[in-house]
Amino acid sequence: MSKDKIWLSSPHMGSEEFKNVQEAFATNWISPAGPFITLFEEKLAAYCGTKAAAVVQSGTAAIHLALRILNIQQDDVVLCQSFTFVGSSNPILYQKASPVFIDSEKETWNICPLALEEAILACREKGQQPKAIIVVHLYGMPAKMPEIMALSHKYNIPVIEDAAEALGSTINGKACGSFGDFGILSFNGNKIITTSGGGALVSNNDKALAQARFLATQAKDNAPHYQHSEMGYNYRMSNISAAIGVGQLTVLAERVAARRANYRFYQTLLGEVKGVHFLPEPKEYFSNRWLSCLLIDPSLTGGITREDVRLAMEKENIECRPLWKPMHLQPLFQDAPYFGNHYSEELFDLGLCLPSGSNLTDDQQQRITNQLKNVFSL
Ligand SMILES: *Cc1c(COP(=O)(O)O)cnc(C)c1O
Repeated sequence: MSKDKIWLSSPHMGSEEFKNVQEAFATNWISPAGPFITLFEEKLAAYCGTKAAAVVQSGTAAIHLALRILNIQQDDVVLCQSFTFVGSSNPILYQKASPVFIDSEKETWNICPLALEEAILACREKGQQPKAIIVVHLYGMPAKMPEIMALSHKYNIPVIEDAAEALGSTINGKACGSFGDFGILSFNGNKIITTSGGGALVSNNDKALAQARFLATQAKDNAPHYQHSEMGYNYRMSNISAAIGVGQLTVLAERVAARRANYRFYQTLLGEVKGVHFLPEPKEYFSNRWLSCLLIDPSLTGGITREDVRLAMEKENIECRPLWKPMHLQPLFQDAPYFGNHYSEELFDLGLCLPSGSNLTDDQQQRITNQLKNVFSL
């Protein structure tokens, strides 16, 4: 059997993408302007059920624009889920604002509403009204949006939903990214659909998204010459990337189905192993299962750790990764306040992401099965 690398999550093109790129070439729209950009924005907004979408060069840029539009400034407090990728929190530093990190709860692994309220009250006690909440739908599992939006309304704090990993995930049929003031998406190469690199803002506030497009194109005022009154960025998505994105949206439902099938495959294989824990969907929650993750508790597995599994898989050229290292443990954020019960630290210690591409082949699944059976003596 071949030992080609099995990736954690690799790009998976459909049949439309290349045709669309050829059309962009044929019409010479090789630019951060063009018809595929508008089309991609319309289709994304329709998919998410929001009034509008604005596509940009990355999910990180989308979060940065959301913070700019919310007028987050130096020393403003931004409450952010700790258990996430650094792309969620770097934009807080771009604005010289102060991140306060919030731990996770056990049902979704996302921001804990109790710890969030505790942090809000602690900030207000010190006379500091938090200016935004960044909540993340990690690995595609929706965060507890009803509870979080209730806190947002109670304390009047806008919510940015980082749905970079959660396109296709819903609560009660409502799309992740459509609950908060702004949702952000990523189309990086490892995400459920990709434009090679890219991101989007979605929102019902279409005026704010017009402002986002303005800031993303160097904040050029409406004049025949180049006139600027505000600081902007060069963040706009290229028409070539958007051409890929329009194609990828046509296969999104299939990609979600394939990722969910991966999760069922792992659950069938390891669901009965003592000390191995999966993350079931709460009622009414639908996860795109972007990555299949599990927790491996060595006190119950007879000493087998997640690192044992990762290294055994690596030997067979199969990529696995520990879960995200929480932001409050990162040297970059060592001075940032933190609220919660340290559950994300346990997730980091015990958790492993398994190969989850929608393009995993039967042969690859067989290699994964063999090696997992080896490690757990099944
Ligand atoms: C990928 C990702 C981002 C950033 O998206 P980019 O397009 O890579 O900038 C932000 N947050 C989370 C949770 C992500 O997984």
